[in-house]
Amino acid sequence: MSVLLDGKALASKIKKEISEESKRREAAGKARPALAVILVGEDPASAVYVRNKEKDCLECGIKSVPYKLTADYGEEKLLSLIDALNGDPAIHGILVQLPLPPGYDERRVIERIDPAKDVDAFHPVNVGRLTIGEEGFLPCTPAGIVALLDEYGIDPTGKNCVVIGRSNIVGKPMALLLLRRNGTVTVAHSRTVDLPSLTRNADILVSAVGKAGFVTPDMVKKGAVIIDVGMNRNAEGRLCGDVDFDGCAPLASFITPVPGGVGPMTRAILMKNTLYAAELADEIG
Ligand code: NAP
Repeated sequence: MSVLLDGKALASKIKKEISEESKRREAAGKARPALAVILVGEDPASAVYVRNKEKDCLECGIKSVPYKLTADYGEEKLLSLIDALNGDPAIHGILVQLPLPPGYDERRVIERIDPAKDVDAFHPVNVGRLTIGEEGFLPCTPAGIVALLDEYGIDPTGKNCVVIGRSNIVGKPMALLLLRRNGTVTVAHSRTVDLPSLTRNADILVSAVGKAGFVTPDMVKKGAVIIDVGMNRNAEGRLCGDVDFDGCAPLASFITPVPGGVGPMTRAILMKNTLYAAELADEIG
């Protein structure tokens, strides 16, 4: 039987470390890390994500500065708000909760955030740094997964890694981080032909598709490490991942549960990135 990769436990540990570091900063007379969280519109899922981020900030000794804007706030005004936050030395990180309501150009909004405050690591400058292996912000979900692998002593070096999904926020940066860790990486997507023949060779299988029950036991190599990024609702309305957990867990060496695997790690890395943003601001002065 496989070992559970306990993202909840590791995320708690990381958040505790951040909280201690925030206290050390304060004792040394440095600014408390501050995160501006911008929510535009009334999307209920986004509202939950934003509430969770505020809770995490509180736990980590990070100041959360919320901006709850109506859907008709307007792109130009949103860009002006971002300009003001970029120029505000008391704000270290800026997060715009996605998706934005219809009528907003997400790329234009993301690109307006100062790359030194881009805690989600979605700005093209940070994507470029990740691609060429320079230091910088790392995207929260893939960086959280690598932290989880590290915690359990799983080294991607020389391993066949298959990432299902090629989104800008999960699949692509996940592939880059595994490559950075010397994995041999294949990225699969909806046009991939004969997906099971690829996944059956995966020592590390990451699924970021967004379909319940997508990864079935016949797609899994015995002893594989399975990382389930998916967040879906099953027929009973319960939160579940992409992986048929009961079918695949007996085959895997390690597997993430949903909930309690990748999700909490994503949240913890956002806090880590906010602390990093405050440290960057100290350096810049
Ligand atoms: P996305 O932008 O919708 O991307 C999904 C990817 O899956 C696409 O690249 C798509 O291929 C691919 N795909 C769809 N059907 C496929 C098929 N039949 N065979 C192979 N590939 C297929 O989603 P995302 O933003 O990356 O998120 C993926 C899932 O992770 C969602 O459930 C999301 O809620 C969850 N998520 C969780 C966290 C967390 O912290 N746990 C964070 C972010 C996202 P094409 O590119 O060809 O369309």
